[in-house]
Amino acid sequence: MGRTYKIAVLPGDGIGREVIPEARRVMVEAFGTSELIDLEFHEFECGGEYFLKTGNEWSEEAEVFTKTEADAILLGGIGAKGPDGNTVRRPDGNLAGYSVVIGLRQELDLYANVRPVKLYEGVPTPLAGKGPSDIDMVIVRENTEGLYYPARGRFSEPDRNFAYDLRMITAKASERIARFAYDLAKDRNGAPVDKVKRVTCVDKSNLLAGCQLFREIFDKIGEKYKGVTKDYAYVDAWTLLVVRKPEYYDVVVAPNAFGDIISDLGGALVGGLGMIPSGNIGDKHAVFEPVHGSAPDIAGTGQANPIAALLSTAMMLEWLGKKFEDKGPVKTAGRIRGAIEEVLREGKIRTQDLCLGEWAGVKPSMTQQVTDEIIRKMKG
Ligand code: ATP
Repeated sequence: MGRTYKIAVLPGDGIGREVIPEARRVMVEAFGTSELIDLEFHEFECGGEYFLKTGNEWSEEAEVFTKTEADAILLGGIGAKGPDGNTVRRPDGNLAGYSVVIGLRQELDLYANVRPVKLYEGVPTPLAGKGPSDIDMVIVRENTEGLYYPARGRFSEPDRNFAYDLRMITAKASERIARFAYDLAKDRNGAPVDKVKRVTCVDKSNLLAGCQLFREIFDKIGEKYKGVTKDYAYVDAWTLLVVRKPEYYDVVVAPNAFGDIISDLGGALVGGLGMIPSGNIGDKHAVFEPVHGSAPDIAGTGQANPIAALLSTAMMLEWLGKKFEDKGPVKTAGRIRGAIEEVLREGKIRTQDLCLGEWAGVKPSMTQQVTDEIIRKMKG
């Protein structure tokens, strides 16, 4: 038996409570048969539903464990509706659960939001003529500053009715995100079209001072990465370019708000929210979560696709393996990925969100049936 990792498990609200238990089930099955490492799960309630019950977003025990003891954190979706049908909010107007989702990113300094955009065989894409061999990139979004930094204000007087959002971009944050992107490219196999290890800086530096600094730093850091090619696109142009030629992209790095927007576009190319995992990664800590939220419209129906959560789990294990220089979790992540790929490729067992295009005639399976099949393949 190898090292024991402590995992904080925060299912959150809505379908988070349905897909995170599936992720946990897959990990238990994977480790039960691997003997390479052991996992200790510490599961805590949190989010809007917990806030409705207790007036707190999570317990003190949950907060302390997650921030100080966990080796890695797995989060579901946050956001609940109250009895009046409205989203549950804290007295300050923020979403109940804000401390968990946004608070952790800030307090644990999770500066890189990493979202792989990979099309798996058997998954419908809206891009005509493109397939799995064309779409395999990773979007790296700066996660701590820029437009989403809470430096904003509103004046509501009759002759001074305006609002502002301060978009500060620092050299320090630009440097570490650029380094993260180049390091990632170094470890990947390059862009699908030509196998060139390429990092594309997506910004609006023809107009914005913050983006000019971001790009300057991107260039400076890139000089040290001889095996990686630097590439550039203005964000508006990139949305067009990626739809026309997704195979050109390998790693894409962008300031916070732009990164957020373009990664939703990326997600749309590879099967939508049920398919997209993410990591919020810092130097010491990391939170892994499916990109989707609590999806109140399908919560409780058993229709949620668990694959985004399972792929987030695989990302978490790979991160643990890298951080602790341990092959065990990486190997297990590989088994989980392999089983997911096999089930998708076969095409028979899939949730309703993937029953589109040439798979429109497939009878949709429930969340747990998909996981059962993945576990079966993993063990087979
Ligand atoms: P939140 O405010 O918590 O983000 P939301 O409904 O605005 O909630 P999502 O939860 O991301 O946003 O859901 C957006 C849409 O995508 C919904 O119609 C939802 O049913 C669908 N969706 C999200 N996740 C999944 C999933 N895992 N499987 C299937 N459909 C999903």
